[in-house]
Amino acid sequence: MTSSLRHLVLILGDQLDEAASALHDFDPRQDAIWMAEVAEESTHVTSAKQRTTVFLSAMRHFAARLRARGWPVMYTALDAPNNAGTLAGELGLAIGQTQPKQLVMTAPGDWRVLQNLRAVALQHHLNLEIRDDTHFFSTVREFAEHAQGRKQVRLEYFYREMRHKNGILMDGKKPIGDQWNFDHDNRSSFGKQGPGLLPQPTRFEPDVITQEVMALVSERFAQHPGSLSSFGWPVTREQALLALSEFIAHRLPFFGLYQDAMWEGELWLYHSHLSCALNLKLLNPREVVAAAEDAFRTGHAPLPAVEGFIRQIVGWREYVRGIYWTQMPAYLELNTQEAQAPLPAFYWTGETDMACLRDAIAQTLAHGYAHHIQRLMVTGLYALLLGVEPKAVHQWYLGVYVDAVEWVELPNTLGMSQFADGGLMASKPYVASGKYIERMSNHCKGCRYNPAQSTGETACPFTTLYWDYLNRHADTLAKNPRMLMQLKNLKRLTAADREAIAAQAQKHRTPSAGIHLGDPPWLRT
Ligand SMILES: Cc1cc2nc3c(=O)[nH]c(=O)nc-3n(C[C@H](O)[C@H](O)[C@H](O)COP(=O)(O)OP(=O)(O)OC[C@H]3O[C@@H](n4cnc5c(N)ncnc54)[C@H](O)[C@@H]3O)c2cc1C
Ligand code: SF4
Repeated sequence: MTSSLRHLVLILGDQLDEAASALHDFDPRQDAIWMAEVAEESTHVTSAKQRTTVFLSAMRHFAARLRARGWPVMYTALDAPNNAGTLAGELGLAIGQTQPKQLVMTAPGDWRVLQNLRAVALQHHLNLEIRDDTHFFSTVREFAEHAQGRKQVRLEYFYREMRHKNGILMDGKKPIGDQWNFDHDNRSSFGKQGPGLLPQPTRFEPDVITQEVMALVSERFAQHPGSLSSFGWPVTREQALLALSEFIAHRLPFFGLYQDAMWEGELWLYHSHLSCALNLKLLNPREVVAAAEDAFRTGHAPLPAVEGFIRQIVGWREYVRGIYWTQMPAYLELNTQEAQAPLPAFYWTGETDMACLRDAIAQTLAHGYAHHIQRLMVTGLYALLLGVEPKAVHQWYLGVYVDAVEWVELPNTLGMSQFADGGLMASKPYVASGKYIERMSNHCKGCRYNPAQSTGETACPFTTLYWDYLNRHADTLAKNPRMLMQLKNLKRLTAADREAIAAQAQKHRTPSAGIHLGDPPWLRT
């Protein structure tokens, strides 16, 4: 490569899309692509082995695909000699070698990365052209316009606007079925009989490239959490498309009904498992939504299931991105409830006698996956009720899930799950006692605790901490009309009840109660 290079086009690990805006005008005769695997992306938060593997393997497959088109790709492997270890360091080296006239990239998914790359461009007196990410239905500007002048931004109105603008599940100006939202039909549990025979998830046998990455990650990040023995995520576009068609064929018809249900040992259920392929950009949300809508129009899947699924993608996924980019960087620091407790160490091992948490964390560490209600109403709920510092909760979620990229993870964790933004993202804190988990799963049957009890030896920690949370935050929550019913129930407790609950809750915050607080185990040795 010579100094005649027009564009050095930067492709990050979550931008694996040949139709990306950065590549729209790519000319292999005068441009080159830059990609780099760097340790910093696995260590700035402790990234689980499954997460690092999925990113690196998908990047290597994507680079091979670009090279097969005859496009020049500068690619630094994690174990390349003299790997600078950071994106900024590697980019600096590449600029030195190629002397491009300009840097081009699609807007990244992480504020920190954007700042780092901008600084490198500045240092080298180069223009960094950042193009809109056309992967999404909406732009951040559109979200900002929607939010402007509103006292509160709410998912429901943004979602309706998106459906309308994009003509999704619409009958002229009206939503199909005369209803925007089928949430009420989408809250079933599996009942006593359980889920019965479930469809198999679509998993992929690791090929040679993935096996090489697995060996590298196992050696380089041996101390990082999780295991690779079950790795089966899609790492190419073809695999992602197959995963999509199998979801539509076998699981979408039941998606809505059992969207919130949990069952011991069953992690895949009727969910799509597509978030990772979507976030790496192996799949485009338009093709996912079109396939789901088609399943409704051909009579394969009922409207509540299809609407419920489409709402997650056209609604929540776009909404959280708007929140992230309009609120960063201040958002990361928010802690409106002044929660200060450290994250319990069992989040890194799953070693707890709370059956629901044990199951959700074990699945997370084994597969880099847990479905939404496990994240929101088990691991997230416990951290919220305990009063864990939101940034520590965020670092855990960003590290352990294969689909974790900051633009989507942070608002979900800090806003929706921990209510640390004081209600910007969600209209109320998602708080419940152990009775909710009992209703939506069979976990409590095999647990040594009793979800109906808030004090005593066998009291469910969720139930104790739930009443304690309401009690601690009663004054602030009283301003929220959506919390009135829960606060009314709190008023039924006597002063002595509240005192006993507060004392028992405090025990959950102290290491002597058997819940180990502090750093992940590998940092304590
Ligand atoms: C604390 C917490 C942290 C989360 N962190 C992430 C994360 O790092 N990355 C991520 O993609 N999702 C995150 N989510 C949202 C959601 O839990 C996952 O998208 C979902 O569980 C992924 O599994 P799935 O593909 O089987 O989803 P499905 O249940 O099949 O849903 C379909 C798709 O809708 C989208 N979706 C669903 N819910 C949301 C949501 N709340 N926000 C954005 N998109 C959504 C995803 O792309 C998903 O693939 C988080 C939720 C919580 C409560
Ligand atoms: S009793 Fe409480 S801790 Fe045990 S599984 Fe039920 S909700 Fe979880």
